[in-house]
Amino acid sequence: MRTAPRLIILTAVFVCCLAGACPAAEPGHRTEALLLGLWSSAELAGSDTDRAIGAVGVPDASTPALAHDADLPARPPAVPKTMQGAIRRVSLPKGRKLVAVTFDLCERANNVAGYNNQIINLLRAQNAQATFFAGGKWMRSHPEAAMQLMADPRFELGSHTWTHGNLALMTRAEVDAQMRLTEVQHANLRAELGRRAAAKGLGREFARVPEALRLMRLPYGRSSELALNTLAEMGYLVIQWDVEGERDEDKLCADAVAKNALARVRPGSIILLHANAVPQLSYEVLGLLLPALRKGGYELVTVGELLRRGAPQAVRQGYFTIPGDNLRYDAIFPGKGTLKPDPARPFVSAPVP
Ligand SMILES: [Zn+2]
Repeated sequence: MRTAPRLIILTAVFVCCLAGACPAAEPGHRTEALLLGLWSSAELAGSDTDRAIGAVGVPDASTPALAHDADLPARPPAVPKTMQGAIRRVSLPKGRKLVAVTFDLCERANNVAGYNNQIINLLRAQNAQATFFAGGKWMRSHPEAAMQLMADPRFELGSHTWTHGNLALMTRAEVDAQMRLTEVQHANLRAELGRRAAAKGLGREFARVPEALRLMRLPYGRSSELALNTLAEMGYLVIQWDVEGERDEDKLCADAVAKNALARVRPGSIILLHANAVPQLSYEVLGLLLPALRKGGYELVTVGELLRRGAPQAVRQGYFTIPGDNLRYDAIFPGKGTLKPDPARPFVSAPVP
């Protein structure tokens, strides 16, 4: 067995410590009572308009204030050395076939990015666990969807920064702001979820919803030593991927994209997909991946569960497939990554929160 048992124990201890702050980090211990008690099936299903992506406009620089009845959870201790860096996959004990399907929910400062309700509906219909990395501003502009993801026992929520910041270009204070504002927004929505749950007598179910975001994903996959060290000090596990689920989706059909992704999946893989914004084939690809993975003997788990069952394999920089393959984004997205390019406006170099 290549995976050192001590490493797995260390991993499990850290992840369990995180779970201590959020008693229901293990989705299997939760039920659908909260989700089904707060929303009708029609509300959960959403509509075609959910998928609409807003036009690029004036950057929204407003920031959330902590609601009077919301608690901002204390950040946990620093991430242990063995779990620092950009985690690309997890080493599992021999014979274990687990895989984590993950989705980014990206949103920048100057447009509203929508979300693909078809993807969430498909995951629910197939009872598939998944992890979502949600931007803080996205959570603010899609509060019902965000709270539904929080309440759903199949799903785990992580941070995708406040306005999709390119952390490789940011100062320590800017990295901190991108994470903190997202924490505030998450705390406000969790408090609202708590109010609604209490009104329906679902307080016990609500108590199982994790209090804090402890996983994060780097926008553009971009990082720096400063960013990785800052995130580790904040207690965030940086979760990247070893399988790009939508690779070449602008050139290939969904069948070919899914086939290529499946060829790269192995036990402990983390698959990158998106539930909004740019990729067009995510839903079709997911529809092919889910049955194929299960047919191949894979159990679909959240990233948190994957980490509890193995040892992370991390690197010291973020990238898509090979180091450096994402550097071009630094010159494409202004405002240190927080703005969608707008031909009507000059390149903005100052960061937006
Ligand atoms: Zn993103």
